[in-house]
Amino acid sequence: MTSHRPFPADDFGIYHVLSECANHACLPESERQPHLQGVTGLRNLGNTCYMNAILQCLCSVSPLVEYFLSGKYVTALQKDCSEVTTAFAYLMTDMWLGDSDCVSPEIFLSALGSLYPVFLKKTQQDAQEFLIYVLNELHEALKKHCGRRAYEKRSAPRSCRKVVASETSIITRLFEGQLNYRITCLKCETCTNKNEVFTVLSLPIPSEYECSLQDCLQCFFQQDTLTWNNQIHCSFCESKQETAVRTTVSKAPKIIVFHLKRFDIQGTVKRKLRTEILYPLTNLDLTPYICPIFRKHPKYNLCAVVNHFGDLDGGHYTAFCKNSVTQAWYSFDDTRVSEIPDTSVQTATAYLLFYSCQPFSMPIQKHRS
Ligand SMILES: [Zn+2]
Repeated sequence: MTSHRPFPADDFGIYHVLSECANHACLPESERQPHLQGVTGLRNLGNTCYMNAILQCLCSVSPLVEYFLSGKYVTALQKDCSEVTTAFAYLMTDMWLGDSDCVSPEIFLSALGSLYPVFLKKTQQDAQEFLIYVLNELHEALKKHCGRRAYEKRSAPRSCRKVVASETSIITRLFEGQLNYRITCLKCETCTNKNEVFTVLSLPIPSEYECSLQDCLQCFFQQDTLTWNNQIHCSFCESKQETAVRTTVSKAPKIIVFHLKRFDIQGTVKRKLRTEILYPLTNLDLTPYICPIFRKHPKYNLCAVVNHFGDLDGGHYTAFCKNSVTQAWYSFDDTRVSEIPDTSVQTATAYLLFYSCQPFSMPIQKHRS
């Protein structure tokens, strides 16, 4: 079966534009537009814009959507921690296959809130932290043990314990990358390597006013010299020594999430950096930062953005997401959803950037083959 048929024809009737659906309760009649798959607003349940923005971004990651809509998650699901993941799957199904212009994420929130009550407080939370909680929960519920790797784990030195993950899930397959730290003692020149997995890269912002994402990346990956209080113990010298640390990506994830560190906290002084950070929509080249042997797909395309408006304590989150069916960008502001031109995706409010190393195909299509 080929996929050359024009959208929206589909064997399952999945991608038909539901222009005449009955349930358009969220918008006044004059604003109602044809409802598109995956272009669904989310109700705000009391300061839950941070959650809505993250859910919109995750629901635009096509391979993740495909995994849930196709039902593949059911076989991987660990029964003892399935509540959050099941609620997530149902919500994603509503957002992609439902016929409402907006849905309520309250079942998902109450499932997550039963594990982490802070999310039930109806206070503003950090979207980046929330993303990590959600990815961790989904990973815990969907992980599979890998026997072969358990052996590798045993023979690996303790510092590299995290290198060979013994548990994989759709989350690690899509979002997990690995950093390599090459640590050189500046006295004896002994080199040691340390590895660390990541799902979000927190990037420093090297300018107050304007810089590029590449500037942030360069700043993150530049060689560091650790002196004075930051000296590292060298096992060869058997004492603390000045060391040089070089960081590279030793495993590039399929979806790389950048967290722009706009919230600057120094002692009791907190402030938000409103730097305009210029980021490309296509062809972000990570070649300089990836170990040469792992440079398989070094070019990344932007697929979603979380924006933050206002200050540290209050503020509001929205999301821009590229829909894999229409290939257009949409702005998601809780229940308010609108299509935006590519030129509007670059703003000074960007807080999280989701990049993918491969163009997304439409979800569900693959599992037919
Ligand atoms: Zn040394």
